[in-house]
Amino acid sequence: MLRAWAGLYEYNTFDHSGIIGRHPEISNLIFATGFSGHGMMHSPAAGAGVSDLIAYGEFRSIDLSPFRFERIAENQPIEEHVY
Ligand SMILES: Cc1cc2nc3c(=O)[nH]c(=O)nc-3n(C[C@H](O)[C@H](O)[C@H](O)COP(=O)(O)OP(=O)(O)OC[C@H]3O[C@@H](n4cnc5c(N)ncnc54)[C@H](O)[C@@H]3O)c2cc1C
Repeated sequence: MLRAWAGLYEYNTFDHSGIIGRHPEISNLIFATGFSGHGMMHSPAAGAGVSDLIAYGEFRSIDLSPFRFERIAENQPIEEHVY
């Protein structure tokens, strides 16, 4: 083997979905992580949502509040159905 490549596979073991939104106590910390292997597909929406939070302080172009960090403490997993 002459060369190799490795990529970080960030994984949310709670519900395998991204975590997008503000930290509940640190208001200038915004999460966009834990996409669990489908972050490439979610990146346009995640980018739009995070841009909204930075520019307007709220989601405007797309409501990503179901992906909020607090859902883990609230035990509200996002069920993604694959057809
Ligand atoms: C093998 C593999 C296959 C995948 N296949 C798919 C797929 O088919 N479809 C799909 O939708 N998703 C897929 N994914 C998942 C997708 O690639 C990720 O969910 C997505 O890239 C996450 O984007 P991100 O911007 O959150 O993080 P990343 O793309 O990981 O970007 C993080 C960036 O931060 C930089 N960084 C880290 N630490 C620091 C620091 N201290 N200071 C400055 N910079 C730093 C890193 O260098 C990196 O550039 C796959 C992932 C892997 C590993």
